[in-house]
Amino acid sequence: MQGDSELIDKILSLKKERNAVILAHNYQLGEIQDIADFVGDSLELSQNAAKTEAEVIVFCGVHFMAETASILCPDKIVLLPDIHAGCPMADMVTAEGLRERKKELPGATVVCYINSSAEVKAESDICCTSANAVKVIESLDAKEILFVPDQYLGHYISTRTDKKMILWPGFCATHIRIQPQYITDLRREYPQAKVAVHPECRPDVIALADEVLSTGGICRYARREDVTQMIVGTEIGIIHRLRKENPGKRFIPVSEQAVCPRMKLITLENVLWSLQEMTPEIKVPEEIRLKAKAAVDRMLKAV
Ligand code: SF4
Repeated sequence: MQGDSELIDKILSLKKERNAVILAHNYQLGEIQDIADFVGDSLELSQNAAKTEAEVIVFCGVHFMAETASILCPDKIVLLPDIHAGCPMADMVTAEGLRERKKELPGATVVCYINSSAEVKAESDICCTSANAVKVIESLDAKEILFVPDQYLGHYISTRTDKKMILWPGFCATHIRIQPQYITDLRREYPQAKVAVHPECRPDVIALADEVLSTGGICRYARREDVTQMIVGTEIGIIHRLRKENPGKRFIPVSEQAVCPRMKLITLENVLWSLQEMTPEIKVPEEIRLKAKAAVDRMLKAV
């Protein structure tokens, strides 16, 4: 059995040899965030993937994120160290299911959350992330919007716009574990703390927050001078980054149970294995890639 420092040394030297970059989502295990070249939210990671000069991207996140990197960088090798690291919410909408729904709503503009497969993006008019969702929706000249797959993010956007929105009934099983009562109790315990939650949370949780932000937004908010204590309503992996970047400040997770098991499938062991074997590679078929890229490009132009 190898110790962490031995694994890390091997990963770093192989990363150099392969001309690879390691990108990690804010929900990754602390040890994965610590070896990454860049840690961020879905939008930041896609933008970083698009501009990297590395030949190989080791994507420490879930399947749709690695697919997005492949959509934006078809000439690079994109590795996802555990092929089972999928996003259950993204799997709640399929391209076939979406095509059927589009037939019922022929005039609707389809907006897909970035947490969706390449096939679903290819069936959509425009993509969005939790960081830019309201701006993307506001930019549309659309009478009716079909939003997939997260009903809670969709509901949050609908409270910020006058557009008519029809919501797909998907949800994130990790974020719905966050209950309003937890926030009420923590507010009593930490009266000075700001409450920041992710828009994938339920509306009754969002109603209790000071700020509703993407994970990248939560990290920026934490740097503000007037924020010294924060109750954090999202997946607990982000606590590692918040504490590391803001020594002396206090970060309290709303729930220790807000853990995404799929995000935690990425380990130092499988990152090393993936770099050694150059597998599993995530590649999107060209026909789907071009259509999906059009939806992603429209998003990048709109914000
Ligand atoms: S936290 Fe939720 S939305 Fe994010 S990858 Fe996990 S299941 Fe998907």
